[in-house]
This record gives sequence, C-alpha cells and structure tokens, in this order.
Amino acid sequence: METKTTFNEIFELLKNKKVYFFDLDGTLYLEDLLFEGILNLINKLKSLDKKIFFLSNNSSISTKEYLLKLEKLGLDINIENIILSTHPTIQYLKKKKVKKIYLLGTKSLQSEFIEEGFEITDKDPEIVVLGFDKELTYEKLVKVSYFLQDNLPYIATHPDKVCPTRKGYIPDAGAIISLLYEATGKKPKIFGKPNKEMLLFKLRELKISPKDAVIVGDRLYTDIRMGKEAGVTTICVFSGETSREMIEKSEIKPDIVLNKATDLIKILK
Ligand SMILES: [Mg+2]
Repeated sequence: METKTTFNEIFELLKNKKVYFFDLDGTLYLEDLLFEGILNLINKLKSLDKKIFFLSNNSSISTKEYLLKLEKLGLDINIENIILSTHPTIQYLKKKKVKKIYLLGTKSLQSEFIEEGFEITDKDPEIVVLGFDKELTYEKLVKVSYFLQDNLPYIATHPDKVCPTRKGYIPDAGAIISLLYEATGKKPKIFGKPNKEMLLFKLRELKISPKDAVIVGDRLYTDIRMGKEAGVTTICVFSGETSREMIEKSEIKPDIVLNKATDLIKILK
C-alpha cells in the first residue's frame, strides 16, 4: 500500500478501525514526560468505542508495576490496556502446557509468572525463559549455561539489546542473549516487538481481524515492520526516532505518517 497523504485518504483508511495499538516511548511520551494532548487522544478513542492497547517490550517489571508506572505519567488506563512482551511469552508457555520454568528475570517478573500458575525452579525445569533481568547475577548465568548445554528449550521475552536511560544505554535482554550465545552457541525463540505475535495473540483473543487494527509507533524496524507483517495498518510518527528522510531511505513504508500521535484527534473527528 502506498503511504496515504491526504486528510480524506487517511480518514477513509482509519474510520472503521476497531483497535489501536500504541508504542509508548517516542510515541506517547519521552522518558517521564507525557506529550501534550495525549490524554485528549485517549479520551477521544474511548468515546469512539475503540479498543486501546499500549505496547512495551520491557519485561523487567510485572504488568501490575507497569500500570503504576503509566499511571504516574498521567495515563488513565486499566491493566487490560497494557501489552508487554511477557504476555505472548506466557501465552506460548500455556499453549505448550509447560509448568516448570527456569526464569532469568527480576523478582517483579517472577511474581507475575507465579500468579499465572508457573513453578519457577532450578530443579529440572522444562524450559529456560529469559527476560530483562536487572537483578542478573553470575550464579544465574552459570545455571542457564548448564541448562542450555543440556539442550533445554530456550525462549526470551524480547530482543532489544539496550534500554535508554537518562545517563545513557544499559544492557537489555538482547545483550544478555548475546552473552549466553557467546558462551553456549544457543539462541532463544524470541517474542515481543518486532515479532508479529505481539499483536496477533491479542487480536486472536479479541476475535478481531488484523485489517481492523492500527499500530502507532516511532520506529520503522520494530513498530512499523511488526504492523506490516501482522497485516495491521501502520502509522509512523515523528515524535521519536524516525524522520521523513529515514522513511524515504527505508524499505519499510508506513501506511500513514503523522508529525505526532495527537494529530489523530482531528482526523477521527
Ligand atoms: Mg518507541
């Protein structure tokens, strides 16, 4: 599909959509500052009966704690509105009927897996699950290395190599995956963005077709690529990482480009 440029083209493409997925950092906020007008946008979508979901790959905290983080930023939402890379990971484990896992993850993440019915153990686990473990120790790495050499199945919540902070980048799940790859030669099956499962598992649950959904994001190689692969309408915004020049050079062409997410308010009328 060619990128839609006129107001009418964009309106026509969006008017019957039922679900809006939003990337967070660079799309709705930067660090701990919500962009102006975002609350109006969310209210507008709610008043039009659109389903709204906020996506993050960050698996360093549980969904409950993530909700508190988003509430602190000023977003008025429920836990059901949040999709983390943890969720398609848990769906996969449930589908595979796995019970005992070794989880490389924070205490906060562990609590979510336990609530979901999993047993976290280093005694004969059925699978290794790697998350963004900000409480990583050498002892944990040793355990995982042995499990991987024993050819235990191995999955990870998301592929991001680094996570941005005020002072600079810190190692994220992808960097821990690389470290373990150097040591064991093993690579995990990965969920989270840009894996289209991050959108499709939720659409299956809602029984809504991908063509009735929209993803709004600021990164071509994650948000927009994932949307394209899932068959969801893609909107790239310029409030984060991507510029017009980057889109011109990229093979990944969003269906719609907007300066900022709140431009949707006037389009949705
Ligand atoms: Mg982003």
